Amino acid sequence: VPRRDGGSVAVIGLGRFGSAVATSLLHLGHEVLGVDENPDIVQRWADRLTHVVQADSTSTEALRQLGLDDSAHAVVGIGTDIEASVLTVLALEELGVPDIWAKATSIKHGRILERTGAHHVVYPEAAMGERVAHMVTGKMIDFIEFDDGFAIAKTQAPREAAGKTLSESALRTRYGITIVGLKRGRNDFAYARADTLVEDGDVLIVSGPTTLVEKFAAIS
Ligand code: ADP
Repeated sequence: VPRRDGGSVAVIGLGRFGSAVATSLLHLGHEVLGVDENPDIVQRWADRLTHVVQADSTSTEALRQLGLDDSAHAVVGIGTDIEASVLTVLALEELGVPDIWAKATSIKHGRILERTGAHHVVYPEAAMGERVAHMVTGKMIDFIEFDDGFAIAKTQAPREAAGKTLSESALRTRYGITIVGLKRGRNDFAYARADTLVEDGDVLIVSGPTTLVEKFAAIS
């Protein structure tokens, strides 16, 4: 029975995305095995990750020799070289890695990765581009959309809510959104309650269906 160590994660392709994933995993307390074919990249990360090895990840045998068949999780950060990305996911699937994450650079790339055996496909550039669009064009300070049409946003309190408690302004019944939290100046965020008084300049955390959150953030 292979030892599927829940704490250890393989990150393949230590470019901008892969190295960011690897660094965060390390901060979260996980052991990280980094794999890259570029010796300069391996050198750069050698003393920062738990283990870093130089290998061509498109080779199932090479990955097996590195013990990847014992990994509980693998993240493929190769993006530019689509062929290498797809073959790496295929190799991980052949080794029976139970939780494969892969970065896609386009919808078509992502569809191939899903068919090849990736359990989770992420589109970091498309997702960040969409978030930035929300922030550039509206009053949203931050925006996160979940894949089921539900979003959470950080936005300036609308003028009509100022000087009233949340129950008085009745934002939920009028806009179909829920105020989750509120921040005033340098204070910490506080959970929103019915009797929370909103003041001009307050920052709100708003949740709800994406379209309603967008509409709410557009009023001033
Ligand atoms: P980013 O845009 O996140 O920087 P890149 O696609 O530019 O992503 O970087 C991917 C990394 O994956 C590079 O460091 C590259 O050396 C590595 N890589 C590409 N192909 C292979 C492969 N076959 N085996 C191992 N590493 C690879």
